[in-house]
Amino acid sequence: MSIVIVGAGQAGGWVAQTLRDSGFKGAITLIGDEPHAPYERPPLSKGLLNGREAAPTYVIDENTLHEQDINFVRSTNVASIDRGARSVTCQDGSTYFYNKLVLTTGGRPRPLPFSM
Ligand SMILES: Cc1cc2nc3c(=O)[nH]c(=O)nc-3n(C[C@H](O)[C@H](O)[C@H](O)COP(=O)(O)OP(=O)(O)OC[C@H]3O[C@@H](n4cnc5c(N)ncnc54)[C@H](O)[C@@H]3O)c2cc1C
Repeated sequence: MSIVIVGAGQAGGWVAQTLRDSGFKGAITLIGDEPHAPYERPPLSKGLLNGREAAPTYVIDENTLHEQDINFVRSTNVASIDRGARSVTCQDGSTYFYNKLVLTTGGRPRPLPFSM
């Protein structure tokens, strides 16, 4: 069983972590277009406010990703999904196959179609 997660933000990081915490032993590939491991945006920890914690606060840091055998593919934009072939293809041409696909690409504000 192979799971591909597209979008390495808060949701993507928690999906990967929760799968391992729940005992999932299959392959997990987490693909994100940012260079960083999943981090809280903004850092939501109270520890940041009282100075006990430094920003950024990671949802799942690099060491944990490695220890938990999560294949973290950074700085990579997923350009297309082929549902028939059960694969995603990235802008750099790399392709990843999945049994289950999780889309955690967040949201973007939609600019109003006029200026004031
Ligand atoms: C200024 C600001 C303040 C906020 N304050 C709070 C707060 O106080 N409390 C709170 O609970 N929430 C707050 N939020 C909201 C919080 O940041 C979001 O709810 C949260 O980040 C959503 O997580 P997500 O994983 O769904 O999406 P995101 O965090 O947006 O993660 C999606 C990830 O997917 C990546 N991605 C998108 N498309 C692709 C693609 N095709 N291929 C590869 N990667 C892709 C994106 O680059 C991003 O890294 C705030 C947000 C902002 C902007």
